[in-house]
Amino acid sequence: MLILECPCCGVTGEETEFHAGGEAHLKRHSVGSTDDQFEEYLFMRENPRGVHLERWRHNNGCGKWFHAARCTMTLEVFGTYPAQTYEPPQEIKDAISAKRPGWSWRNFS
Ligand SMILES: [Zn+2]
Repeated sequence: MLILECPCCGVTGEETEFHAGGEAHLKRHSVGSTDDQFEEYLFMRENPRGVHLERWRHNNGCGKWFHAARCTMTLEVFGTYPAQTYEPPQEIKDAISAKRPGWSWRNFS
C-alpha cells in the first residue's frame, strides 16, 4: 500500500486517506496560446513506468492539495511537498537522482 505524508498538516496515512489528482506541474498557457498548447494541457499526460510527480489531496484530513514524487513500479515515495511550487524541491530531486541515476523529468536536472 502507498503511504504518503501530507506536507501541510504532517499526517502520515495510507493512500485511502488521500485522493489522487493526476500529474503535477502541468503548464497552463494563458491568453494567446495555440490550439496545440491547449490540447497538450487538456489531454497529454506522462505515464511513466518509474518516477512520477503527482498531485494528491488530503481528503480525510486537512483537505489541502500537495505534490508527491513516487515510483509507479515500487510505490516508493521520494517525498511530498506543497502544491504551490513550480518544480520539486532540490532535496527531492537529489533523493530521486540518488536512487534512480540518470533520471530526468522534463527539463529538471
Ligand atoms: Zn493534510
